[in-house]
Amino acid sequence: MNCPVCSSPLHRILYEGFPVFRCMKCHGHLLAESRVEAAQRVRRETVEQLKQEVVDEARPDTQETIRCPRCHRKMTKRFVQEPAALNIDICPDCRLVWLDGGELARLQLSYEISPAGQDAAEHRRRIEAMTPEAKAEFERNLSKLKADDGSLGALLREALIGGGQHWS
Ligand SMILES: [Zn+2]
Ligand SMILES: [Zn+2]
Repeated sequence: MNCPVCSSPLHRILYEGFPVFRCMKCHGHLLAESRVEAAQRVRRETVEQLKQEVVDEARPDTQETIRCPRCHRKMTKRFVQEPAALNIDICPDCRLVWLDGGELARLQLSYEISPAGQDAAEHRRRIEAMTPEAKAEFERNLSKLKADDGSLGALLREALIGGGQHWS
């Protein structure tokens, strides 16, 4: 498959453990819609590192309609709300998402700085400081709670899937 923006070959890489396709020239990423939310939640060493990647890899948001690298159909634009505030391109058939250079890091960064991301970071710090017994107890309690509320993940899901509109 080739990059939908600059036509360079896409390379299959692991981005923080997630398989994605990456354009080595314009630094865009192609990944399954179902993986976007998980990818943005993976832990980075530092927020500074993420910020650096956003700066280093930032490319102008693709304005024109691009075609899916896999099936060559036109991709649909979706706006991901604040704090990420970016346009992503989705293939309605393959459910592949194209993120321009720097956008994947921006999604991760916006999660890290969101209340949900801050809570997650705080949880990680606390869990790491716990004894094994306290940790087991904590995990038990946590499993009783309902996960997630109005986080960026929900916004992203909404942006990706649209208001109740499904493509499958
Ligand atoms: Zn490219
Ligand atoms: Zn497609």
